[in-house]
Amino acid sequence: RPAVGVLALQGDVREHLAALTAAGARATTVRRPEELAAVDGLVIPGGESTTISKLAVAFGLMEPLRDRVRAGLPVYGSCAGMIMLADGILDPRSGQETVGGIDMVVRRNAFGRQNESFEAEIALAGIEGGPVHGVFIRAPWVESVGAGAEVLASYEGHPVAVRQGPLLATAFHPELTGDTRVHRLFTDMVALAAGAPDVAGEAAGAG
Ligand code: GLN
Repeated sequence: RPAVGVLALQGDVREHLAALTAAGARATTVRRPEELAAVDGLVIPGGESTTISKLAVAFGLMEPLRDRVRAGLPVYGSCAGMIMLADGILDPRSGQETVGGIDMVVRRNAFGRQNESFEAEIALAGIEGGPVHGVFIRAPWVESVGAGAEVLASYEGHPVAVRQGPLLATAFHPELTGDTRVHRLFTDMVALAAGAPDVAGEAAGAG
């Protein structure tokens, strides 16, 4: 089973740990560089991206995170985690940095005051068995993507799920729904990158 860490500085860490465990991963928390060094993949949870950014700097994790992403570490970010994976933020708060890695620019809190939190069925490329239930909470959207990034899902014309190689990001929170398909997709990406057999037990090409 691949070891998948959850960046445990702020945000909905427990929900991701539970979803990863249900998806067949060995889930652990990551707060220190040594813990980051020990995982095969990482989830950056939803929460508040400015806070996560500042704590990552304070905990000495920002540069190690960038180094591991550059070296090909699979990372999945939901909501605030999506913001952390973006190469650019349209409206950053002062002092807010990102890890980067996905060639995209995101707009924070993009859906606006009238629509701060909502739920919608989202058809996600690469996920079988129907749309996923998207829970959006003060969610970002993707303002623009570069050539390297693949849009997996859009909502009202705005990309809300993006993949670039081993990096996956959603503007919504599958960890809050009990549907573990997104975490299974990510755990499979981690297992593949780690050279382990597919954790779902599916033979290559079976899908
Ligand atoms: N609006 C938050 C931010 O900018 C993200 C909200 C979330 O993760 N649910 O970081």
